[in-house]
Amino acid sequence: MNRIPTAFLSHGSPMHALSAGAAGRAWQDLARRLSRPRAVLAVSAHWETSLPALTGRDRHDTIHDFGGFPAPLYELRYDAPGSPALAQRAAALLRGAGYAPAVDGCRGLDHGAWVPLRWMYPEADVPVVQLSVQAELGAGYHLRMGEALAPLADEGVLVLGSGHVTHNLRDWARNRGDPAVLDYVRQFSSWTHDALTARDYEALVAWQERAPGAGRAHPTAEHFLPLFVALGAAGPGAAAERIHSAVEDGALSMDAYLFQ
Ligand code: ZN
Repeated sequence: MNRIPTAFLSHGSPMHALSAGAAGRAWQDLARRLSRPRAVLAVSAHWETSLPALTGRDRHDTIHDFGGFPAPLYELRYDAPGSPALAQRAAALLRGAGYAPAVDGCRGLDHGAWVPLRWMYPEADVPVVQLSVQAELGAGYHLRMGEALAPLADEGVLVLGSGHVTHNLRDWARNRGDPAVLDYVRQFSSWTHDALTARDYEALVAWQERAPGAGRAHPTAEHFLPLFVALGAAGPGAAAERIHSAVEDGALSMDAYLFQ
């Protein structure tokens, strides 16, 4: 089976589920470009736990984990199958690397996973397993978690990180409708792009100290951490390609990357 590249997407507002926009079209293009995966391991910023958790159900519920959006958004469903076998395989790989993962028998798919997947695989016919992030444990921890999961890419599984390159919701709310890009958003996105294309993992792991505007780009780290799992799972020497670049409302970097 062909090795599947890994990817990191900035998932944007949940409104992307109703209207693809440029980001949704980029996600469609990504799915067309990749070989069809046997399954997706989705690492979403919207599932935070103290230890790595994997969804273990064989069919998912759709979690509408957002408030204050139009009613039609809450009627959308993405009832993809799960893959208990993939959850067990990923758990075994993580255990082998010293992690203490758990398989959760209740959890469905949150919008960090299902909004992009709705455009990538609209028939909801590719099995999905979600993996949680541990927001307090840092970039190096998530990079190593990705490295532990790298064999999955050879087994036809798409490891897909879903978060944001910049994610300050206060700035986003304040800037709504203003296309002028905030300076730190441009600087942080550009630093991330340069470090990824230079494969400077040492700088990337130290992003909170080294990236310009890091504290404002990510008041909390959870939306940046899925990037590191995708990066680690791509294996050493993987090249980063920015497959989408945009800023919504001047504040939310929508950049997406393919690693292969
Ligand atoms: Zn989000």
